[in-house]
Amino acid sequence: MLSRTTATASLSVSALSSRNPSLLLCHLSLKTSRFFGLEKLSYISPNPLSNLSSIRWNSNKNNSDNTNKSNKCDSSRMEGFTTRASAQPLKNAEELIDSVETFIFDCDGVIWKGDKLIDGVPETLDMLRSKGKRLVFVTNNSTKSRKQYGKKFETLGLSVSEEEIFASSFAAAAYLKSIDFPKDKKVYVIGEDGILKELELAGFQFLGGPEDGGKKIELKPGFLMEHDKDVGAVVVGFDRYFNYYKIQYGTLCIRENPGCLFIATNRDAVTHLTDAQEWAGGGSMVGAISGSTQRWSCSTFMMDYVANKFGILKSQICMVGDRLDTDILFGQNGGCKTLLVLSGVTTLSMLQNPNNSIQPDFYTNKIPDFLSLKVATV
Ligand SMILES: [Mg+2]
Repeated sequence: MLSRTTATASLSVSALSSRNPSLLLCHLSLKTSRFFGLEKLSYISPNPLSNLSSIRWNSNKNNSDNTNKSNKCDSSRMEGFTTRASAQPLKNAEELIDSVETFIFDCDGVIWKGDKLIDGVPETLDMLRSKGKRLVFVTNNSTKSRKQYGKKFETLGLSVSEEEIFASSFAAAAYLKSIDFPKDKKVYVIGEDGILKELELAGFQFLGGPEDGGKKIELKPGFLMEHDKDVGAVVVGFDRYFNYYKIQYGTLCIRENPGCLFIATNRDAVTHLTDAQEWAGGGSMVGAISGSTQRWSCSTFMMDYVANKFGILKSQICMVGDRLDTDILFGQNGGCKTLLVLSGVTTLSMLQNPNNSIQPDFYTNKIPDFLSLKVATV
């Protein structure tokens, strides 16, 4: 039994405007999700970007038409499901490196923990670059834009270009672009600055975000909250200033504006805001909106976006991450090789727990093991 499913550095979309949202938007691979007690299974088509290009924002659909149909991922198509063998400890890093053209690294728990760089990472990245490997860095954290992430890499002493970074804030804007979201419609943002910056760069109108962080609702008899009828999408990401005003505003838009999309940048249960403990993640904000709208989003497209942008065969990509139910599943669903590192949230005992069915191809303690394991073939 697979566990709760989300996807790394990708976004989830409730496409209320689509005629068959469960198939059109559940487009990465087979996945099972337990979310608010629901168990959802979806088959995702192998070429999501081509699907995405055929999806158009459509304001003519009546929301009531979709309420009980959308976001219920298709549970009837399980043909893509395969049981994987147990993960193997990485013994021959050179062989893995030679077989891969591109490494996609999750950041938190792989490259850094909180604001601390993991020892040996710079040397490892240098070695991979010297071998001509393409490196891509993905992050579910939507609080920063790609440019802001570039600065974080720089601060940590890592030389990474903006083009190599894929944050879920960017993914939200890229997704809206890919579906030709109308420029005269607005996006309501529950999230932080990163989403606003990426929407602005993409030329979309938006409202909400940090600006609504201090807003309060005074419940007087007969009080009615107005909302902008031109909001055509609500983007929800991690938000330290989450409040009831935002929940109600986003809920009104999704429930009352015809065709309004519900886009989740990620559904991480926990995140590492500091390296001292785990903190409630973006899933807590997304969960609140799902709770009030009774809508769940279930799709991702980041892996395909990366593969298409760089023209990479997915079989030549290795997804490296510290979470089973996000990073590893994301890589597997995308048809990539997968490497779990134990430098983040997953321990060896969690990996080997009989109840865990998500098995990466390989696991190792941390990515600097690439350096020490490189002579394993000799
Ligand atoms: Mg991580």
